[in-house]
Amino acid sequence: MLNIVKNTTFVGPFDLLAPHSCRGCGHIGNAFCDCCKNNIIFEHENYCPNCKKLNPTGKCSHCKTLPPIFVAGSRQEILGNLIHDYKYHSVRALAFPLADILNGILPHIDGEVIIVPLPTINRHIRTRALDHTYLIAKHLKKLRGKNYRLEKLLLRENNTVQVGANEKDRIEQASHAYKINQNLKIDSSKTYLLLDDVWTTGASMKSAVKKLRQAGAEKIIISILVVNRLN
Ligand SMILES: [Zn+2]
Ligand SMILES: [Zn+2]
Repeated sequence: MLNIVKNTTFVGPFDLLAPHSCRGCGHIGNAFCDCCKNNIIFEHENYCPNCKKLNPTGKCSHCKTLPPIFVAGSRQEILGNLIHDYKYHSVRALAFPLADILNGILPHIDGEVIIVPLPTINRHIRTRALDHTYLIAKHLKKLRGKNYRLEKLLLRENNTVQVGANEKDRIEQASHAYKINQNLKIDSSKTYLLLDDVWTTGASMKSAVKKLRQAGAEKIIISILVVNRLN
């Protein structure tokens, strides 16, 4: 039962510092310094969030129905604290280092790539004054170069909050969470890079993949910042 206490709710010494102190080492200047950021990229090992097995190529041999998945880390590590501060304390300055970490762990992708952030509930965007996944996607697009575009291809179908719901409820809710934005067209020659901050049960992401495939997307890659528990 002790696992219920997440370290992301713990107020550490650096949480009390000014927004522009590094959450990793306390160095003044950036919300997360280059050195701490590069450490995460350098030490990164890719895991499949679905079966928790090492997954260096992104394509998990155990989870055959899933597209390749790239995960930056675990919520129980410093990345989890960064996302918590970014999302719940609206520390916008963390959007860039978080995008840069994703940039560092993602492989080179040939051809045209469309970044598709999983949409956040409107109410949360309003209360946080931040569309957190979209903002990371915007930075990621700039970091990745000319063959990348950003599209709000997925829209919210319902606004049910998943936090606290059990796994069965989450899967049920997630199956109605998204719809395809009919103003945009899916092109099967392009790669769709789905982006979300946290993988808990994977229900949201699996639902998003299903919607994209039904609409004709053939090449899909998933990128996630943190998995709730890797072990
Ligand atoms: Zn640092
Ligand atoms: Zn797997």
